[in-house]
Amino acid sequence: MTRRIRKLPDHLVNQIAAGEVVERPASALKEMLENSLDAGATSVTVDLAQGGIKLIRVTDNGGGIAAEDLALALDRHATSKIGSLSELEEVGTLGFRGEGLASIASVSRLTLISRTAEDAHAHQIVAIDGALHPVEPAAHAPGTTVEVVDLYFNTPARRKFLKSENTEYAHCAATFERIALAYPEVEFLLRNNGKAVWRLPAQSLEDRVAALLGKEFVNAALPLGTEAGGLSLRGFVASPTYSKASRDAQYFYVNGRFVRDKTAQHALRQAYRDVLHHDRHPAYALFLTLDPGGVDVNVHPTKIEVRFRESQAIHQFLFHSVNKTLAATMAGSSAPAAD
Ligand code: ADP
Ligand code: MG
Repeated sequence: MTRRIRKLPDHLVNQIAAGEVVERPASALKEMLENSLDAGATSVTVDLAQGGIKLIRVTDNGGGIAAEDLALALDRHATSKIGSLSELEEVGTLGFRGEGLASIASVSRLTLISRTAEDAHAHQIVAIDGALHPVEPAAHAPGTTVEVVDLYFNTPARRKFLKSENTEYAHCAATFERIALAYPEVEFLLRNNGKAVWRLPAQSLEDRVAALLGKEFVNAALPLGTEAGGLSLRGFVASPTYSKASRDAQYFYVNGRFVRDKTAQHALRQAYRDVLHHDRHPAYALFLTLDPGGVDVNVHPTKIEVRFRESQAIHQFLFHSVNKTLAATMAGSSAPAAD
């Protein structure tokens, strides 16, 4: 009665991977936005319909994809971003696993339209239920549009896990905001059901933070900029008076990537320890930059977690940077002295 072992068909492999990479519309949006940024886009437009379930369209003015590479872009483990283990260990792009588009294409009707600066016109390819249609000429300015329609139309069991349109929309908006916060030099537009929700010009980090997190946050925020031992931290920490009952206003980035990191969370909590009641959460938008070799981003398919090579040094650096900033403005009150 033993069943024979067989290789799974590619399409099924992609659908299995999609279970990890494309948990919901917002995860597809994240992959698409990261691709636009990796392509060097300075302008990115997002269109959503029905919370992203009906439509996610991302248009950018980045480097584009050559016509002969369009089919490869939708292939699993095909990437232009790394080519060797040493490149993986030093990876500076947001993507590198080569599975984002393949996964999304396996659970949606996907159209990829692209034009490089050298191309006289654009080309497009359509993928439906794992089948690629032939590449055709198309109209598009230099750059790329990825259009994802009817997410999970061919995986009904997954589709059932989708929440209401409003909830899925909220996740998409949060994903958009997290990414837009880290790239203030890029112009972003978000439309939902045809209505503009965010229209963000290229601007300074301070203006981007004010636009996305609100004037109230910026007014209560202390700017921070420190460097030591190859580590750099910049951004804003809210003074304790702005603390939140939830963790909603905690934005922490490593090399331009939004992450949830225990080391960082602990260090920041410690830095606020003496100035913040224990059931309140500090608010911050902090951008840590370090040599890519010092952090492993290949820990999780969605890269929401990272591993630091020198996590103790990172902890100390974050703690001291934030603690010093808080102490400087709390001087005279009961704030702890920075040591
Ligand atoms: P990864 O980002 O890990 O390389 P993806 O499946 O997300 O994998 O994308 C596959 C490839 O398609 C990328 O390596 C890139 O060359 C190309 N690509 C995808 N999106 C874009 C885009 N918006 N602009 C230019 N190239 C893109
Ligand atoms: Mg990608």
